[in-house]
Amino acid sequence: MFDLSTSDIKYLTGVGPQRAALLNKELGIYSMYDLLCYYPYKYVDRSRIYTIREIDGSMPYIQLKGEILGTELTGEGRGRRLIAHFSDGTGIVDLVWFQGIKYVVGKYKVHKEYIVFGKPAPFNGRFNIAHPDIDEVSELKLSTMGMQPYYNTTERMKRSFLNSRAIEQMMATLLAQISEPLPETLSPAILAENHLMPITDALRNIHFPANADLLRKAQYRLKFEELFYVQLNILRYARDRQRRYRGYVFGKVGEIFNTFYSQHLPFELTNAQKRVLKEIRRDLGSGRQMNRLLQGDVGSGKTLVALMSMLIALDNGYQACLMAPTEILANQHYDTICHFLQGMDIRVELLTGSVKGKRREAILAGLLAGEVHILIGTHALIEDTVLFASLGLAVIDEQHRFGVAQRSRLWTKNERPPHVLVMTATPIPRTLAMTLYGDLDVSVIDELPPGRKPIATIHQFDNHRESLYRSIRKQIDEGRQVYIVYPLVKESEKVDLKNVEEGYERICAAFPDCKVCKVHGQMKPADKDAQMQLFVSGTAQIMVATTVIEVGVNVPNASVMVIENAERFGLSQLHQLRGRVGRGADQSYCILVTGYKLAEDTRKRLEIMVRTNDGFEIAEADLKLRGPGDLEGTQQSGIAFDLKIADIARDGQLLQYVREVAQKVIDADPEGTMPENEILWRRLKALRKTNVNWAAIS
Ligand code: ADP
Ligand code: MG
Repeated sequence: MFDLSTSDIKYLTGVGPQRAALLNKELGIYSMYDLLCYYPYKYVDRSRIYTIREIDGSMPYIQLKGEILGTELTGEGRGRRLIAHFSDGTGIVDLVWFQGIKYVVGKYKVHKEYIVFGKPAPFNGRFNIAHPDIDEVSELKLSTMGMQPYYNTTERMKRSFLNSRAIEQMMATLLAQISEPLPETLSPAILAENHLMPITDALRNIHFPANADLLRKAQYRLKFEELFYVQLNILRYARDRQRRYRGYVFGKVGEIFNTFYSQHLPFELTNAQKRVLKEIRRDLGSGRQMNRLLQGDVGSGKTLVALMSMLIALDNGYQACLMAPTEILANQHYDTICHFLQGMDIRVELLTGSVKGKRREAILAGLLAGEVHILIGTHALIEDTVLFASLGLAVIDEQHRFGVAQRSRLWTKNERPPHVLVMTATPIPRTLAMTLYGDLDVSVIDELPPGRKPIATIHQFDNHRESLYRSIRKQIDEGRQVYIVYPLVKESEKVDLKNVEEGYERICAAFPDCKVCKVHGQMKPADKDAQMQLFVSGTAQIMVATTVIEVGVNVPNASVMVIENAERFGLSQLHQLRGRVGRGADQSYCILVTGYKLAEDTRKRLEIMVRTNDGFEIAEADLKLRGPGDLEGTQQSGIAFDLKIADIARDGQLLQYVREVAQKVIDADPEGTMPENEILWRRLKALRKTNVNWAAIS
């Protein structure tokens, strides 16, 4: 048996250099093995033939057998189409072509028997099938057709007639050449313990399933394998890191923590906060370096947990720092923390880009001398000039704004890497967090402090301005403040900016007695900060802004969030924006404004927003609606991954299970020397070589 992974795809019968070039370029398929690993995205049952009389409006793809009675060309220009009247004796359907008419005309003969395949749709009292697949009856062996695979192809491929059918052909040719079993890619123990189908059977059945049961088994085997290697890769990396970096041991919870807890903390911690603090304390005392992701919805009290963790560092003679993604947020954290620590003998300093000269020197000197206990700032913190006497804990707020690389720069700030706590308000479903941040442990604050009223969310069409303004007016009269947010994306930046400007003018005209401020990303940072400050201080009652306010600004007096063109925002983003209100004890509102015409999934997004305030429910829904690739945070995370067959949204349970299987392998064979696992390590190495993203994480 020749090695398929080194056999160039161009040598497969029916491929050749030109098609091979397309396959290389468009699908990244170079070897015959690559082709085998190009799985169908769906299957259609072609074992049954329907009659035209049976057709109802709700059928998916079906197959008919009959003849063409006659054809006609109608319409002009773009409306031009070719219609073939097709009958099987029980009725008539119209076969319709809008494109490639030249190619179709003359290809099919009248009164010859064909099998027609496509999706019927009602039109003018009849059913039609647009762009059907047509085969001569003699060419198709129906009894062996069974489930037909469908493969994704690109526009360029289709133009060269390299469509799904053509790929199916190649696949059939290749599989016919494989006479012996292919080399196994999982160990015998894993195959046996998990009742997995052998790789050769799985590959055969994933392309040409003999029946639905075998298809299911093949899918299971291939998903298992895919997730297994993703997890093995991450867990092995995490283990190496643990071995390389011992953590500072924070053995005690001392006077500083206890004084704060018993005398300064103005309220009772929520149960979720207590639980998470326990998890963090366990890490800090374990001798391992902590690398923990702290997830919690906006307003769930993450900052307080971070502060109390920092106090444990102080108790053990170490310094701590907190890094925020923007200057405004750093300022806010600084104010909050100073306020919490009032009356305690702890020196907290703020370091951002605008802290310069003498002030900066004094802070840096204090830091090096160990006199500054807690340093708060922006990415200014990771600059080389910032040196600590003994940094023990680094807290990072809003992870996805920082890359993995920036995170790791913190590690060089002390002899050994400090403990790291990453806070994020983007609720990442657990399954995704495991895959994305597999090297981080995850803690979740899933409970809001008591007394918060859930935000009331309302969907309004944009021609109801008057009632919208009345609602805003009412809140302003009660002394509250209002956000009005517009979308702003690069692709339509000019138009978007115009909308913001017009929106601003309109609001100024509608509320002449109010102070309105305006913030967008194109403004100079100083202007932006000044405008933001107007709102934070309460001088301005209304803020018109783009999504720059998405991250963490805290104005408890703001009670209304109006989101214009809400249809253009993703679910997570809408939820983040909504989280800017509802921070005080009063009732808050989020008003989603859209046009009348809405796509189906947009309507679903809005419904979910109106129905629930639960960030995790929203994140799960977002994952299901959009798929993991689009999820906020995944692109920036630096650990992109490319799954061929498993689906994080749907295969969460399997992922969890497979992670345990991978963990067991690593626990039993930490050095990777057991002969029965050799096959696994060899395969992992091969995958890391071909998958750039995988290699990037170490
Ligand atoms: P997050 O950072 O998770 O968005 P914050 O830490 O900013 O949330 O907390 C939001 C607000 O809730 C702050 O004003 C904080 O002081 C307050 N808070 C935090 N924990 C509690 C608690 N256990 N009980 C009451 N209020 C709390
Ligand atoms: Mg926060």
